[in-house]
Amino acid sequence: MDTRKIIDEGRINTLLKKESVLNKSETLDIINKAKDCHGLNVEEASILLNIQDDEILQELYETSKYIKNKIYGNRIVIFAPLYTSNECTNNCLYCGFRVANRDLHRKTLNSEEIIQEAKAIEEQGHKRILLVCGEDSKVTDINHIVDAVDTIYKNADIRRINVNSAPMSVKEFKKLKDIGIGTYQIFQETYHRETYKKMHPTGSKSDYDYRLTAIDRAYEAGIDDYGIGVLFGLYDYKFDVLATLIHAEYLDEKYGVGPHTISIPRLRPAFNSGLDKVPYELSDQDLKKIVAVYRLAVPYTGIILSTRESAQLRDELLSLGVSQISVGSKTSPGGYEEDDKEAKQFETSDERDMNEMIEVVCNQGHMPSFCTACYRNNRTGEAFMELAKGTDIHEFCQPNAILTLKEYLIENASEDLKKEGEKLIKKEIEKIEDEKMKLVVEERLERIVNGERDLYI
Ligand code: SAM
Ligand code: SF4
Repeated sequence: MDTRKIIDEGRINTLLKKESVLNKSETLDIINKAKDCHGLNVEEASILLNIQDDEILQELYETSKYIKNKIYGNRIVIFAPLYTSNECTNNCLYCGFRVANRDLHRKTLNSEEIIQEAKAIEEQGHKRILLVCGEDSKVTDINHIVDAVDTIYKNADIRRINVNSAPMSVKEFKKLKDIGIGTYQIFQETYHRETYKKMHPTGSKSDYDYRLTAIDRAYEAGIDDYGIGVLFGLYDYKFDVLATLIHAEYLDEKYGVGPHTISIPRLRPAFNSGLDKVPYELSDQDLKKIVAVYRLAVPYTGIILSTRESAQLRDELLSLGVSQISVGSKTSPGGYEEDDKEAKQFETSDERDMNEMIEVVCNQGHMPSFCTACYRNNRTGEAFMELAKGTDIHEFCQPNAILTLKEYLIENASEDLKKEGEKLIKKEIEKIEDEKMKLVVEERLERIVNGERDLYI
């Protein structure tokens, strides 16, 4: 495979040079076109990335909110990461886990400890986990990951495990598929080859092409639910957003399934980082623009926002087009039991706990969702996209969000939040148009009150 054809840097650089020639009304035409929810091409996205005018920017944000609501309704999916190991043989300059960080307290959780962490996350009310680890072929190989996933499913009430890990061979991806993961996630970090080389000087991760083609191998192994992204701050964000969209377009064209999610991590301080400053600083305003451009360009792709961002910015981004957020995250193995500063991958910023965060989500009029139904009902990959594109997905997602919020309120919420949550549930039931579905939801809510759990549609 000629990977230079997938990400053609020359094409991206040309786009970045030429787009500013468009006038206001031409730019607004592109924004208006996006309201059809058919997405935008890379050329059009490049024009939006260059918007400076406040009025047009406002229009971009309003359109992003509109599309988010049309496709996903007011739902925000909630999850937390679980780090199983910080052992790593790579040397990514930005990361606390890099091999050159001799002072890091290295730790790999055993099965008992993995269960403890999963249970600590579960106690907060989570049902979805993102499993994460460093890359060390002797410690965190595929068997480590598969065993961890299996252990959690068997011993905790965690209903969906997504995995963010190093790239693998097809054979290894098959094992991941067989254990029943949700989404497989991998970030290219930066699509700019020269920067990639500088940031990843040694270790297997220095192979740009092996990383770029990870999703192709995952797909070959039967994983059709995948997530991509870059680490913002390493290189020019405009270049990397366009490259991400080109990668998404390539995958969509080749396999008929675009990325299930795009993440938007931004560089954070890390213990003994090899970088003394952020190479390409980007502002909060830039991140808002990035979310909106992704939302318009790939409307059916979920956008994931982590606790790397501040509480204030997260609250703003919630209504702008983000569809999934992590809550209460710890970035060290064992961090939910004991948060060791010198074992962390990077500093988080939004430290609010689950109750506080769910309160904010509800108060803003969003519907927190702990739903994990889709992949358990085989609504993944193409099947999911087809439903999402027909906007039929609301039929399942909204009821499931209601049912899982009810469980959360009963099991985990404070008294104040219970009251707010119940009001929200009432409002959401009223919104269900199909009378039969309304009855089904009401009957299941009753069953949840009577002690049944994990009811989904
Ligand atoms: N070790 C595997 C890998 O690198 O692919 C698994 C994922 S790594 C533990 C998770 C992600 O954390 C990386 O892909 C990177 O984008 C992000 N990350 C690393 N250092 C970071 C930092 N200082 N600030 C923010 N995100 C960081
Ligand atoms: Fe290791 Fe991943 Fe950190 Fe790189 S980003 S040092 S591969 S854990």
